[in-house]
Amino acid sequence: MNMDFKRKLTIPMETKEMYPLTGAISATVEKRTAELKAIFSGQSDRLALIIGPCSADNEDSVMDYISRLVPVQEKVKDRILIVPRIYTNKPRTTGEGYKGLVHQPDPNARPDLFKGIIATRELHMRAVRETGFACADEMLYPENYKYLDDLLGYVAVGARSVEDQQHRLTASAIECPVGMKNPTSGDLTVMMNGILAAQHAHDFIYRGWEGHSYGNPFAHAILRGYVNRQGVTHPNYHYETLLYLAELYGKWELRHPAVVIDCNHANSGKNPFEQPRILKEVLHSCRYNPEVKRLVKGFMVESYIEDGSQPVGGGVYGKSITDACLGWEKSERLIYEMADML
Ligand code: PEP
Ligand code: MN
Repeated sequence: MNMDFKRKLTIPMETKEMYPLTGAISATVEKRTAELKAIFSGQSDRLALIIGPCSADNEDSVMDYISRLVPVQEKVKDRILIVPRIYTNKPRTTGEGYKGLVHQPDPNARPDLFKGIIATRELHMRAVRETGFACADEMLYPENYKYLDDLLGYVAVGARSVEDQQHRLTASAIECPVGMKNPTSGDLTVMMNGILAAQHAHDFIYRGWEGHSYGNPFAHAILRGYVNRQGVTHPNYHYETLLYLAELYGKWELRHPAVVIDCNHANSGKNPFEQPRILKEVLHSCRYNPEVKRLVKGFMVESYIEDGSQPVGGGVYGKSITDACLGWEKSERLIYEMADML
């Protein structure tokens, strides 16, 4: 292979021994995950709100952001379960650019995956310990999931990964809810195939082991909009698409039919300020049709301390260096407005 094997990394078991969970952290993760599962199974009529920066680029500003969600969660807890986004792996369409905390614990320094794996585990641990949330991350590299499997409350399989077999098989072994995004092309069948695969048991190779998974009954859809052949973004959160998804679920014999609406990405045309409107439009569709209401279990919002985005090294505290986000004031207002509509 045309590659330097620079150093052997610690395996997940060793990393967990070096950075072990306390009983309190495990109990928090277990409790929050159970609450989230109750939403996806329809036992609870609350909605999930997966909210936070596109990428967790800086430990201080991410912790600052998540800490701000704590009092807000308390106020809306009877209607909304907040799951902060701590996205430590960023898919890059051409492979160029910032690939997330796991590659670059310091976005301005050279990649350091050894430190990155530890930084990722430490940040997720710190978030649970200091805020009481179990957070969400994207599973971009299935083999890295095991470094975080005792910490995450929610996992997303991204638009560029959802058609990949190893992602689907690994999702079938995950115990918390896993959202399978529609692919960038928008083909909902690809997403449904992903959910089907994730809900079933499989035998496969994982981290050098021959393993058997038991299937994840909480694997569900995430609609994130799509890009057409001309490169133009199109939304897929509208009433008609939600009804169509309900119809697809009817034909596919899946457990716990559910969808999370990603309000940013191709749904907002990457304009983060459209997110409040999109979320409210979907809530309106839910009010209008009980079938849609049954299907919609939550929202994903890209939000940070500052509005918008900046280049890597831009130096503005709490401002995204990947997708543009909704700033704190607008996000806080949105959460209260969402609660008022429920
Ligand atoms: C994201 O959630 O930041 C993301 C990269 O999403 P998608 O896979 O939909 O592009
Ligand atoms: Mn993003």
